[in-house]
Amino acid sequence: MRERTRSAAETEAVGERLAAELSPGDVVLVTGELGAGKTTLIRGACRGLGVTERVTSPTFTIGHRYRGSVPVSHLDLYRLESMEAEDPALLDDYLRPDSVAFVEWPQVAGADLGRVTRRVEIRHAGDDERVIEVG
Ligand code: ADP
Ligand code: MG
Repeated sequence: MRERTRSAAETEAVGERLAAELSPGDVVLVTGELGAGKTTLIRGACRGLGVTERVTSPTFTIGHRYRGSVPVSHLDLYRLESMEAEDPALLDDYLRPDSVAFVEWPQVAGADLGRVTRRVEIRHAGDDERVIEVG
């Protein structure tokens, strides 16, 4: 499905609608360049999943865990250069069968992400416009 949004709030709303379709075990890859709105969309999805905590970009860790109607993981692998130098269990705390997981910059992790169930791609479309492919 393709959506066009004109504000961060509209992108959050796309995330919230996506959340309604998710269940534990889902792994959602969210791609797009810096500032595209990946974290914004995930913020809306977290709200849809009942997370009341403030959802921010992980900076000092690779991810955050939130408690909503289900456990939610938010991974951002931007700063990870390769999985080879990492503890093989690095992702295990986040990619759990009881949790919904969102992954920004997933490319470096490749097959370590396991079974990916959904993919979201966000592209700039001028000013505050974004085109969002929800697959
Ligand atoms: P990313 O995680 O992809 O780097 P962020 O979600 O952190 O991006 O930041 C997106 C920035 O773009 C925010 O400052 C947000 O307010 C702004 N923005 C403007 N228009 C939109 C839009 N239509 N959708 C999402 N974000 C938007
Ligand atoms: Mg981000």
